[in-house]
This record gives sequence, C-alpha cells and structure tokens, in this order.
Amino acid sequence: MSNAPRLEIDLDKIYHNALTLVDRLGRRGISVTAVTKATLGSPEIARVLLKAGVSGLGDSRIENIQAMRAAGVSAQMMLIRTPMLSQAALVVAYADVSLNTEIDVIAKLSAAAQAAKKTHEIVLMVELGDLREGVMPEDLESTVREVLRLPNITLKGIGANLACHSGVAPDARNMDELSLLSRSIDAIFGPMLSIVSGGNSSNIPWALSDANTGRINNLRIGEAILLGREPLHRQPIDGLHTDAFTVIGEVIEAKVKPSLPWGTIAETAFGEKAPVKDRGPVQQTILAIGHMDTDPNGLTSPAGINVLGASSDHLVLETGSNHLPVGTEIKFQPNYSAMLRAMASPFVTKVLKGQSVQTRTRSMDPVQ
Ligand SMILES: *Cc1c(COP(=O)(O)O)cnc(C)c1O
Repeated sequence: MSNAPRLEIDLDKIYHNALTLVDRLGRRGISVTAVTKATLGSPEIARVLLKAGVSGLGDSRIENIQAMRAAGVSAQMMLIRTPMLSQAALVVAYADVSLNTEIDVIAKLSAAAQAAKKTHEIVLMVELGDLREGVMPEDLESTVREVLRLPNITLKGIGANLACHSGVAPDARNMDELSLLSRSIDAIFGPMLSIVSGGNSSNIPWALSDANTGRINNLRIGEAILLGREPLHRQPIDGLHTDAFTVIGEVIEAKVKPSLPWGTIAETAFGEKAPVKDRGPVQQTILAIGHMDTDPNGLTSPAGINVLGASSDHLVLETGSNHLPVGTEIKFQPNYSAMLRAMASPFVTKVLKGQSVQTRTRSMDPVQ
C-alpha cells in the first residue's frame, strides 16, 4: 500500500487543460503565463505546462522560481507578487520579469540589476477596483515616467489583478479601462508596452465571451489549468478536467457511535460548533488527515460520505450504512484551498501520474 495521506496528480489531465486554454485564449490573441504557485513550483508540472505551449511561468514565491531553475526548467519566469525589498537581488538573479507597484522596490531592482550587469523587466500593476495590488490609474503616467528613468529596468507592460481580495469580476468595463490606459501610455511615451496582462483564471469567462479583448494580450492562469474551474463561481470550464488532483486519506478508526456528544459543550479545537442534532447511532469513521495536511472544508467526499469535522490530524466522517474498515483509503476532490495546502504539507506524499505526452499536437485536442 502507498503512503497516506497522498495527493495524486494526473499530469495528462493538467496537460489537456493547459493545451485547451492555450488554444482557446490564443484564438482571442491572449497568451498564457501558467501560474505554478499552488504546485510549489513543481518542475514536473512546469514541464507539462511548457509542452502545452504556455508562453512562460509565473509564481508568487522566488523560492519556487529558484527551485524550477535549479531543476533545469527553461522558460521565461515571472514573479507575480510584488517583490520584497529584502529579496531584490534574488528576484533579479532568478526572475526575468516581476509584477510591481512600488517605485522604491523598482529602484532597488534597478540597483540589483546594475550590480548583476543584467536587465530586469517589470510589469506595472494597476488598481482596477479589487483593492489588492496596483497603482491608482491616475498615478500610472507619473509612475511610468519614474520607471523609465531607472537604469537596467525595462517596462515590459502593464497589468491588473481582480477577483482576489474583493471578488470584483473582470468585465468589459474594467478590461476596457486597462486597454485604454495601455494606449495612453504608448501614446505619451512611444509604443513600449509589449504585454497587457489582464488578470488570472477569473478573467476566463470574460476572455472567452464575445467581449472585445482590446489590448489585453496575456493572462496569468493557475486554478483553471490545475482544477478546470473559473474562480468567480467555481463552475467547471467546458471541456476541462476538474479532477486532476485527488486527496487520499486512510481510515484509522471505524465504529458505530451516538451522533450526539455528551458532557458540557464548549469550543472545539478549531472553534467550530460541534454537531447538535441527534441522528441516533451512526457509522463514524476517522481518517488520518487534518488541517496539517489539507483544508478539510475544501474536500468533496464520495457519495454517501459526509465530513462531520476536522482537527489538526483527524477527519471525522459519517459513512451512512457503510462500515469502512481500518486501512481503507478514501478519495476526495480538493478545491483550490485544499489542493494548495496538501501541496505545501510535508506530511502529504505527492504522487505524479500519467505524462505520456510528448509534443504539442493540436489533433490530439478533443475540444472544439
Ligand atoms: C495567484 C495569482 C494568479 C493566478 O491566479 P489563478 O486564479 O490561480 O489563475 C495570477 N496573478 C496573480 C497576481 C496572482 O497572485
């Protein structure tokens, strides 16, 4: 028997998802920067993404980019979180391009790039209403002016990020605003913006609608490739696999127990409320997997199995009339949060499957 808990990763499904999105978005004039942060910069997954034709890799952590470089992954690497001042030298050493919002950081990148005798490319992020990163639109022109004065820095483009902090959906209005801003920068300073990076997986419904894509020619896509869903309503994207990742836990206790706890009821380990409804005796099953391993609230269980609760190391299930003996493995579909915590947990064994893919061939693509 293999180790549990386990995260099984189907590379063929990830390849299919990436290939499909590269093709569909490509027809709309949009390149895909594949975002590897949820995979901790897995070199195996990175290679699959590159074979599918993504234009580069993006990650929020310079450590993940370093890991991919060290493993010999050859691609344009984009740091998609604005760099820490304290990591400027690392960023210049390992990332080709970074997303930025602070002139002090860009100045430090410029100094580090001069010291390393390199040029570092930046994309200036613009705030379009989600209230996470970005310079305010009215400050873009003056920020560009300052950036252009900095040696060894190339302004590669502008970008935006929506639907992360406030759930603001990408739509014709905010995407047109970004296009307009890029046109005005090119008009003022001469054509210089080679990329206009409109956002993340939540841009896909907009990008694949009949909306005019304007000057938007890049998206940074993680979740839609890995889990086949758009993050606005977590709906499956037509033709993509939603089950490339599977979380597997092992049963360590299976007993019939009362459904109602007894004694004085106070807070639980994680502050959640204990179940209060008496359902009579139930088949209660415990798996050796918990908050240390994944996000228990982000697991979809097989039919007939309900998650009752979780602590650091235990997942408590009710399994209907099924007695699932000790040692039984149970498979769950993780959402983004459960998937990335499982990826990041040292207690979860990662098992890569598939990867018979050789080259990017359009005829292999069953979609459209
Ligand atoms: C995480 C992230 C992405 C990718 O988001 P997904 O929803 O996984 O596609 C893109 N851009 C930035 C700035 C991010 O932080």
